[in-house]
Amino acid sequence: MHGRINTGFAFTRKTLILILLLGPVSLPAQGKQGETRPVWSHLKYALYFTYGEIEKLLLDTASMRETMEYLGPVRAGRVYLECTSAGDVNVAQMKDLAARFRALGLRVSGAMVPTIPGGPMCYNNPDHLAQLERRSRAVAQVFDDFILDDWLFTTCTCEKCVAGRGKSTWADYRTKLLLEKSKKYIIDPAREVHPGIKVTIKYPNWYEGHRDNGYDVLNETHQFDAMAVGIETRTRATHDQHIPIYSGYVFQKWWSSVDPAKWVGSWLDNYTMKGEDNDYVAQVWQAVMAQAPEIILWSGGHLHHTGPFSDVYAHFREMLPEFDRVAGMLNGPPRGVPIYLPYGSEGEYNIFGYLGMAGIPLAPVGRFPAESQNAIFTRHSLRDPDLAEKMLARLRAGHDVFMTWELLCKLQDTEFRNTLNVIEPGGSVSSSVFRTRAGWNDQITKADRAFVFPRIGTTTWPYAREVAVVREDGDFGVLLSVKYLNGTLYVLNMPENSYDLLRLPPQVLNMIRRAFNGELGVQLTGPGGVGMYLFGSGQYVLYNMSDETANVSLRFGKKVGESGWRELVHGRGLAVTEEKPQHRFDGGGTYDDVSLTLRSFEIVVVQSPDTGGVR
Ligand SMILES: [Zn+2]
Repeated sequence: MHGRINTGFAFTRKTLILILLLGPVSLPAQGKQGETRPVWSHLKYALYFTYGEIEKLLLDTASMRETMEYLGPVRAGRVYLECTSAGDVNVAQMKDLAARFRALGLRVSGAMVPTIPGGPMCYNNPDHLAQLERRSRAVAQVFDDFILDDWLFTTCTCEKCVAGRGKSTWADYRTKLLLEKSKKYIIDPAREVHPGIKVTIKYPNWYEGHRDNGYDVLNETHQFDAMAVGIETRTRATHDQHIPIYSGYVFQKWWSSVDPAKWVGSWLDNYTMKGEDNDYVAQVWQAVMAQAPEIILWSGGHLHHTGPFSDVYAHFREMLPEFDRVAGMLNGPPRGVPIYLPYGSEGEYNIFGYLGMAGIPLAPVGRFPAESQNAIFTRHSLRDPDLAEKMLARLRAGHDVFMTWELLCKLQDTEFRNTLNVIEPGGSVSSSVFRTRAGWNDQITKADRAFVFPRIGTTTWPYAREVAVVREDGDFGVLLSVKYLNGTLYVLNMPENSYDLLRLPPQVLNMIRRAFNGELGVQLTGPGGVGMYLFGSGQYVLYNMSDETANVSLRFGKKVGESGWRELVHGRGLAVTEEKPQHRFDGGGTYDDVSLTLRSFEIVVVQSPDTGGVR
């Protein structure tokens, strides 16, 4: 939405010039004991040590010196020290260790894994609760604040838990149970021992089971003093969670929006990431783009050369100056297409990650987006009981609605049943041929392999198929759009394999991205796998998260400044080219394209001259 853009130019320009003059230098920080240690200018890091790592790497003073020297290039400003989850916490030992870190000038926070040996707790088991309380009291004797690793959830199905749930759902029962017990057995005892102590909840990245297993993002964020969120996308296609990289960014923006003041950091790990340098660094970039207050590295021992997946450390270390430099370049408020993900909602698995990696910049919102020109709705949005009414109000007010086919299927008892004339629904369709259409012109694109989609057949009129997958017996919907009331309804049919969205021919992806031109004033053209992050009205960050080199353009539907476009990371000028539309119905004018080539996992920051950014 253009109306919301505020570049805060007067201040940020000065800051940017200063950064350019200084370059990626670090400023010394004063430790408590007068020691100085280097810190980054724009980013903060914390190193998390598990209790096993503390025993192995930190208890002995010589080992601690070696460990912290090895991890010195991270320039961490804080350590999280985990207290044991097996047996009683050795308070004297942890106090001594904390003091040794403070003497190095580091901020020290505690950490606790709220489990019993062997797995998650039963919040109806008095022995488990007693252990939790005892541990919380001990941790509170050592630290001024502590974080809970994301094991607060429960999956217990014992007699007491099943009886306690009764006729309720696991989601309703466990969220209530955890809210109550975490206060009574963690927060309250800690505050009793140490008034003023801050307790931080860390949420895991598996949003789809949050409520079922007891996480209530809204109420727990309000109940705890602070919150952190996992990125933890790890190896995107082979790790058992299969989380696309861009989801890491969405998680940060989505959950921190509950109460931005409580957000203390983005948590990421290198677990199982042997040899996956790019995917590891990609996690850091999501935190940088989300402008995380601190990047929490789980864990120090996993990055240390004795750790099993520590080979990613070398590339990460090399990239550290670039993370900081780019973080300092980001200028203006982040913007993107609102995607409505009510808190505690579930829907198409990580669909926001795929949309983001298809080049659609997203702004996840937990409250209904009424004002934006366009907004994305998925099955997640159904958690809002008034969804259909609110979306109709958008269309009535002249705003657009972009929804998934899966959501439309769930709205068949609402007015949305009448928006498309679907014939013979059901089944799937597979083809390598696509028809993209603008006005009365169409274009046939042949991909080098077939894609499988749910089968959507529609009547000839209303003509809704902007993109169709073509088989000899019909054109089937991929992107449908119809005018309805005073707005436009778009329906996206996701391919059966979500990653195939990123592999669709560029002509197809360009049509999908075009639906957001009114909202963004710009669109990406080119292949999938390149994420776009927008800041202010004149900054475009592009990150190639694919294994291929990508030729892409920023396409503007209106005239932009012809000179002065800069790519800031490599410090080079960019040309503007005028392109004729493929279809005379595309608005009749021409496009202005700013084109770039991005190597695999390369990031660029494109600065427009029009908003007075850095020249
Ligand atoms: Zn139980």
